[in-house]
Amino acid sequence: MKIAILGAGLAGSELALQCASKGCSVVLFEAKPDKKDSSVYATPLPGELVCSNSLKSENEGTPAFLLKEEMQMMHSFLLDIAHDTAVPAGRSLAVNRTHFSENILKMIRESSEIEYRENSLFTTLEEFKKSVDADYYVIATGPLTTETMANSIDEKHGYFYDAIAPQILDESIDYSKVFMASRYDTGDPDFLNIPLSKEEYDIFLQALLASEKLPYNENEKPQFFAQCMPIEELARRGERTLSFGPFRPVGFSVDGRRPYAVIQLRTENKEKTAWNLVGCQTRMRQAAQKEVFSMLPGLQHASFSRYGSVHRNSYFNATEVLDPWFVLKKDSQVRVIGQLSGVEGYSESIWSAVMLAQALTSEAELVAPPLQSMSGGMFRALFHRYDRFDPVHANYALISNPNKLKKKVRKLFYFESGKEHFKKWWLSL
Ligand SMILES: Cc1cc2nc3c(=O)[nH]c(=O)nc-3n(C[C@H](O)[C@H](O)[C@H](O)COP(=O)(O)OP(=O)(O)OC[C@H]3O[C@@H](n4cnc5c(N)ncnc54)[C@H](O)[C@@H]3O)c2cc1C
Repeated sequence: MKIAILGAGLAGSELALQCASKGCSVVLFEAKPDKKDSSVYATPLPGELVCSNSLKSENEGTPAFLLKEEMQMMHSFLLDIAHDTAVPAGRSLAVNRTHFSENILKMIRESSEIEYRENSLFTTLEEFKKSVDADYYVIATGPLTTETMANSIDEKHGYFYDAIAPQILDESIDYSKVFMASRYDTGDPDFLNIPLSKEEYDIFLQALLASEKLPYNENEKPQFFAQCMPIEELARRGERTLSFGPFRPVGFSVDGRRPYAVIQLRTENKEKTAWNLVGCQTRMRQAAQKEVFSMLPGLQHASFSRYGSVHRNSYFNATEVLDPWFVLKKDSQVRVIGQLSGVEGYSESIWSAVMLAQALTSEAELVAPPLQSMSGGMFRALFHRYDRFDPVHANYALISNPNKLKKKVRKLFYFESGKEHFKKWWLSL
């Protein structure tokens, strides 16, 4: 079987490795390094993590970890690479993004089944299909897919805005004003933390609200995904939205007292040469970012290795545009995976590829994963939704479970039962 994949991002790279490992012949097309058509991509490498370097929680009982546990059972290559290139981040799976992508490239290049064609930028689905003979064509061009490409697949697509958080160089941080710790002192003290008094918080908030932001294009409505809201949008919602949200101080103590707010920085690499300002994604102009973030204790002389920014994310309403297992309704030879297919997040994008690989290489028609598992919940939300469609990310509202349990035990129950049901499904294949 020959599979042509467009886009060597998270989903495209995982799919290529999966299909190659099952003996398929794969041609993987990628616009990088020279023909990338979005300024968001900062490296020439495949599988680039464009914003945070975290693949979220590895805490027992969390939906993000349940999804990863299920992907692990299905032998996700990128998840293995993430563990190999992990950097300290408390109970989250964060990676050195350069090592992560370099390892993906190495695996792609070492596979005798994968032909990696870089500098291949296609503008429409038709152009892509004409370029090579294959049994299946897979679109994995991600959330930054151009309007022309998205329209050529199906005109019914939506969008929302996603934002990137700034990064600060370690050498520019004043360590006398910050402290290393993990929330509730669990695990290693992997985060740098900036404690704020009420007065410092108020000054920062006012400066943030007054700062100059980049305008939106004409006719565009600024709709954001709840998980990745710019801080200025959160700040606009109320004086304490930040201190109850990304800057919440619970689990921290300075001189025996809980600060009014705490801003966390997560390391970008094991050497800790750069730090990501967690939750500080923003569309402030660069000069304003420098001014506003430099007001924070410890960041008076901050040097930015990357500024924050906001980008438009395109996605399909999967229920309308796709059939189960990511099949394009308009053309059954075509599959759409990754963020463009209606999932949201790094792990979720990789997940879509693991699932599709299974469907493509299975001899019999696949039964959907059980509804008690995260994969089953996401599968239903993508392909069988009856009401409004929103991009799908791992969360327990997707899971079907009849048990009415107390909140405290419910999460752990969902987690254990999800794993168990998924394992049975996986072993039955
Ligand atoms: C600004 C921004 C910030 C985000 N931050 C986070 C975050 O912090 N955490 C999180 O979990 N998720 C985040 N996401 C969401 C999402 O999980 C990632 O974008 C993820 O990388 C999507 O994976 P993908 O494989 O679908 O696409 P991508 O990883 O973006 O890969 C698409 C690939 O296709 C290539 N390509 C695109 N068009 C063409 C073409 N026409 N021809 C040839 N090649 C092409 C690109 O060069 C790229 O390599 C963010 C998204 C955006 C846009």
